[in-house]
Amino acid sequence: MSAKTLEALAGVEAATVEVHDVHKWYGAHRVLNGIDLTVRPGEVTVILGPSGSGKSTLLRVVNHLEKPEIGHVSINGELIGVKRHGERLKELSERAILTQRGRIGFVFQNFNLFPHLTVLDNVAAAPVATGRLNKPEAQDLARELLGRVGLADKTGAYPRQLSGGQQQRVAIARALALRPGVILFDEPTSALDPELVGEVLAVIKDLATSGTTLVIVTHEIGFAREIADRVVFIDGGRIVEQGPPSEVLDKPQHERTRDFLSKVL
Ligand code: ADP
Ligand code: MG
Repeated sequence: MSAKTLEALAGVEAATVEVHDVHKWYGAHRVLNGIDLTVRPGEVTVILGPSGSGKSTLLRVVNHLEKPEIGHVSINGELIGVKRHGERLKELSERAILTQRGRIGFVFQNFNLFPHLTVLDNVAAAPVATGRLNKPEAQDLARELLGRVGLADKTGAYPRQLSGGQQQRVAIARALALRPGVILFDEPTSALDPELVGEVLAVIKDLATSGTTLVIVTHEIGFAREIADRVVFIDGGRIVEQGPPSEVLDKPQHERTRDFLSKVL
């Protein structure tokens, strides 16, 4: 394995994510109404909330797939999508945004793998596209990461030949290939048959214990209790309450949190 591949495998320093007073609206529809959130290095934050409460939008703002109307996000102190220009914030170029996004892993509900690429090349694609590794180096890295998610024997398969749980594990390996300082998960198990949920949660748990900064939107309350350092409950685009699972899940202070938990538990 080349020195560059080995370097790509080494742990990346876990990032701090700061969300400052983020507002997002579509026309008259106010989706995020002043979100402030700090995720410290290595912390596992689980975001809970009813459907339509703004959870996906929040993750998409962090990854700059959406631009907030007000507020901003920074990762390790670096503003995402914008830079300071005197008193104002000025948008970064598309290229700079792509570079930033390349340091943030994103795992989607529906896997979003490239259907025409093998599992190996799905994982190897980003390090090659960003010029970080050449193809053989990236494929070495991909083999290693696929081994880590238990798919060493599937490198030559195409996504359609895999179960949903396997596809999602490929998607996690693909996120890891970016050497991200933080990985965002948007309901990573909600498209899976129930018997496939456990294998994906096990991989995420493995990442959680290895010190990666994780932000996970999920309705898996038992999983949240097990791995979250902090649970954040969102409703109507606002954080209603947050704290350790022992508080938010077991002793919720707000009626809306209690109501939500009574429906999902
Ligand atoms: P959640 O992930 O918590 O279910 P979302 O963040 O997906 O919620 O959506 C929050 C609200 O924003 C929903 O009412 C949704 O319909 C609306 N919304 C999301 N994306 C858009 C968009 N691109 N255009 C208009 N409305 C949107
Ligand atoms: Mg969502």
